[in-house]
Amino acid sequence: MDRNEKLSEHFTFGELIRSEMAERKGIDNTPPQDLIPKLKRICEKLLEPVRKHYGVPFRPNSGYRSPELNKEIGGAKKSQHCLAEAVDIEVAGVSNYDLSVWIRDNLDFDQVILECYRQGEPTSGWVHVSLKDSGATNRSVALTYSNRKYSEGLIA
Ligand SMILES: [Zn+2]
Repeated sequence: MDRNEKLSEHFTFGELIRSEMAERKGIDNTPPQDLIPKLKRICEKLLEPVRKHYGVPFRPNSGYRSPELNKEIGGAKKSQHCLAEAVDIEVAGVSNYDLSVWIRDNLDFDQVILECYRQGEPTSGWVHVSLKDSGATNRSVALTYSNRKYSEGLIA
């Protein structure tokens, strides 16, 4: 699949698989073909609604991660990024806390995690959001990750 090919109206295949680390380390971050429909689902069910709500173009920080890339960056062992079920995002001009709350209150998702957010610094950290394959049960779990530990709920 061509990197410029659109997975949804505003998001390309390349944006969902790009990784500075993969490029720097020469890691091939191309997903297996059968994961592409899941990336499409992430675009349509998570990214497009966020894009529509805020009306601001943004590029996901991290979508799919090959197992090799995930290991390199020290990602969680069972990371949903490796299953093409998760994406890390920030939206310019929107606090990451507010973004995580909007997702929790408005979208169907498996997990939303406010990661490495520092109170009083709206642009600190990022929002991790995941969605399982169609047919699977999504847990709608909201968590905050900071100082290397997870806490329940979204904590500003
Ligand atoms: Zn993530």
